Parts: sequence; structure tokens; C-alpha cells
Amino acid sequence: MAKKKKQNKTKQSKPPFQRQGSLQSVKTVFPKRRRVLLVVGVLLALVMWAFIWRWRSPVDTRVLLDQETFPLSRYREMQMIADKVALTVDQVIPGQVESFPDSGIVCYIAPKAWNDDHLHPPPITLVGPKQNGEPESAHQNTVRIAVNDQVLSSTYAGEAEFVFELTHELAHVKMDARYDNYLVETFAVAVSLKVLRELGYNQYRNDTVRLYTHRLPEGIQSAIERKAWNEAALQWQSGALLR
Ligand SMILES: [Zn+2]
Repeated sequence: MAKKKKQNKTKQSKPPFQRQGSLQSVKTVFPKRRRVLLVVGVLLALVMWAFIWRWRSPVDTRVLLDQETFPLSRYREMQMIADKVALTVDQVIPGQVESFPDSGIVCYIAPKAWNDDHLHPPPITLVGPKQNGEPESAHQNTVRIAVNDQVLSSTYAGEAEFVFELTHELAHVKMDARYDNYLVETFAVAVSLKVLRELGYNQYRNDTVRLYTHRLPEGIQSAIERKAWNEAALQWQSGALLR
């Protein structure tokens, strides 16, 4: 009991004295006007820091699946795949171009009629005026992605096809979807193959590689099969593809 009393005594006397003393010294060193200026200065610095941080950190790629064209029964599952794809594409190609919409990219299933339409064969990224057949969620003059309806019914349960198409289009967005040429297309396919591997869709990836390889001249095909990369590169540089 006696010990307890002693402890209480020290607790009561020391801290209030110390606190009062330090407060007094702050008041003496910083008169009221200076204290206000100091607080305003600190607040301004915090706002500026937040602004610079926001400006410096890249905007994450966000894909919003369209509820009108994606079936309700598969919406959640496919939105989760789209999120994974967006994250992986950001890891492969960090940063955004100026045309990237802060609100995210709307992705929808293209109308069946578009499959035979040379104007906008899906999968495709659109940036200009709204086209006939686009859903309500697609706003003109903002980036939106139309995928093929095969993403719902392909032999790979649609998933891998969806990953391939969405990645390919997001790669276009990263390289500025307003421009397209063979080199851009080659890079976009390469990014798709990389993301398919990252997300574990190896069967689909290998089949796609095989499909593309079989379109090449036989000399290059054989070099690729033997993994003779120098020979393949030499054939490539010799213009074998143009013959
Ligand atoms: Zn493309």
C-alpha cells in the first residue's frame, strides 16, 4: 500500500510541471502571429506534397466491364480477370499516355455484326466518335475497348481468349491507341503472350505462338523449332519475310 502511495505522488507532481514549462517556452519563442504563419506554412507544404505525389505516381489502369453486354452470370468472374490483366499490364508497361481516361476504360462485347465489318473488327480500341452498336456506357472521344464475343464461348472457356484480347488492346492504349502500324501490332501481341504466361494460361499461349510461327517462311520456322535464335535473326534480317 505504501509503495502505491509513493508512485501516485510522483505521477501527480512531475508531468504537469514539465508540460506547462514546454508550452510556455513555445509561446515565448513563437508569438501568436508567427504560430499562425507556421501552421499555415506546414499546411501549404502538406498540400503541395500531396499534389506532387499525385502528379508523380502513375495512374493505375482500370477496366470497367459493361453490364449491358457482359452476361450477369459471368460478370463478377470476368471483372476479376480484367482487374488481374490491368495490374499485370501495368507491371509490364508502367505509366500512362495523356489520352488515358482517369475514370477508367469501358470494355464491352462487340455486336455480332461487327465481326464482318472492316471498319471496326473486334477486338478493337476506339477513341473517336461513338459507333453504331456501342452500348450506353461507351462515351465518345474517350478510350473504350470492344472485345469479340468469342471471349464468352471459345474452346478455352473464354478466359484465355479474354486475357489475350484485353491485354492486346490495353497494350494499344499504353502505346497511344490513336496510332497503329505493324510494329505497334507486333508489340501488342508480344505483351499479350507475356501476360498469358504471367497469369498461367500456358496452353493457350503455346498454341498461339505455334499458330503465328506456322505463318512464317519454313527456314525461320525450322530455326525457331531448333531454338537457333541467331540463325532465325539472320533469316529475319535478310528479308526472308518479304519474299
Ligand atoms: Zn491490334
